[in-house]
Amino acid sequence: MGKALIIGAGGVASVAAHKCVQNSEVFEEICIASRTKSKCDALKAKLDGGKTKVTTAQVDANHVDELVALIEKVKPDVVMNLALPYQDLTIMEACLQTKTNYLDTANYEPKDTAKFEYKWQWAYRERFEEAGITALLGSGFDPGVTGVFSAYALKHHFDEINYIDILDCNAGDHGYPFATNFNPEINIREVSANGSYWENGKWVETKPMEIKRVYDFPEIGERDMYLLHHEELESLAVNIPGIKRIRFFMTFGESYLTHLKCLENVGMTSIEPIEFEGKQIVPLQFLKAVLPDPASLGPRTKGKTNIGCIFHGKKDGKDKTYYLYNVCDHEACYKEVGSQAVSYTTGVPAMIGAMMLIQGKWDRKGVYNVEEFDPDPFMEALNKWGLPWKESFNPELVD
Ligand code: NDP
Repeated sequence: MGKALIIGAGGVASVAAHKCVQNSEVFEEICIASRTKSKCDALKAKLDGGKTKVTTAQVDANHVDELVALIEKVKPDVVMNLALPYQDLTIMEACLQTKTNYLDTANYEPKDTAKFEYKWQWAYRERFEEAGITALLGSGFDPGVTGVFSAYALKHHFDEINYIDILDCNAGDHGYPFATNFNPEINIREVSANGSYWENGKWVETKPMEIKRVYDFPEIGERDMYLLHHEELESLAVNIPGIKRIRFFMTFGESYLTHLKCLENVGMTSIEPIEFEGKQIVPLQFLKAVLPDPASLGPRTKGKTNIGCIFHGKKDGKDKTYYLYNVCDHEACYKEVGSQAVSYTTGVPAMIGAMMLIQGKWDRKGVYNVEEFDPDPFMEALNKWGLPWKESFNPELVD
């Protein structure tokens, strides 16, 4: 039926590629292209043998001309950007030039400022509309499924949603004192930044990890969680009418936080270049080089993740609360696709988003976040493709 060009060959791309190959009725062909071609070839070797034709290519996604040449050669129905947020704009630009649909899982972040925002990508809306193509932004889990959950809750359970708390719990244990579950540079930039939440039409900023709560997660138990800024807060604040407050909490264990604090205190998480033995180096990039590769955590990680949204609003004039969540098991993910649950919960929705575009189930032209489309076919696909969701009508609320 369709063809996808996957850019990136890391943890998330690997899961998405496995899922595309499982779904060969929709994905007749995929091309995996990344900076390091040997990683694409290693991934292809694991995927071959199914009905989906798999090819590989080398591309530096920082260069629009290289991307345009590749897209013109492959002629995909959709480009799945599963590289890093720094490449979002160059890949969108190449999609525009070749009139090809675009999808990503993380919003654009300039390399020299740890501040991710949608404004750069939303600025492409009219040009994508005029070109008759779709850019689907944030089709991972959070952002991604959390936006689809919000659209689903609004469509089926509420007249008005006033409060959303997004809770991201990773109770996995990889046995290392300190490691990150996805790209360390992106992960540490995210958690060492100031926190913020949206309330009554404006942002309220907090110090990093200033707000802590304890939550009793279904199928996991009590965990400490901390308020972070997270990118879907920005789009949901715009796209969910009647919203008064949206917050995002992520769980962190004590060992992770103690190590992070220490690394911060000695300057290892800084993105300001320093001179070392006559060479400019960025401390955070050096730190990334000495930390375990997230891909290597797969075989060692045990335990579960639980990511979901608690909604509080009105239905038929009455107060209503509703909790939608997914529980994913690290070891089961590894057994199925050779990756742990953090990559799995991002790669599966990336495949589903691409499927929505290829099948034409989501076909608004322009630049859109996931919650701006009909959630029903995506919710159905989550159940079918490995991320079944659960609901609760009387959840514990976060104060
Ligand atoms: P990895 O670091 O494992 O993989 C990134 C891949 O991108 C690597 O293959 C890397 O190539 C490639 N890459 C980097 N720069 C370029 C470039 N200039 N040109 C071509 N390829 C490039 O990251 P993850 O798989 O963990 O994460 C992928 C994305 O998913 C990130 O944007 C991350 O923020 C996002 N994410 C989203 C989540 C969500 O729920 N929405 C959750 C987790 C992650 P090389 O091997 O050569 O370095």
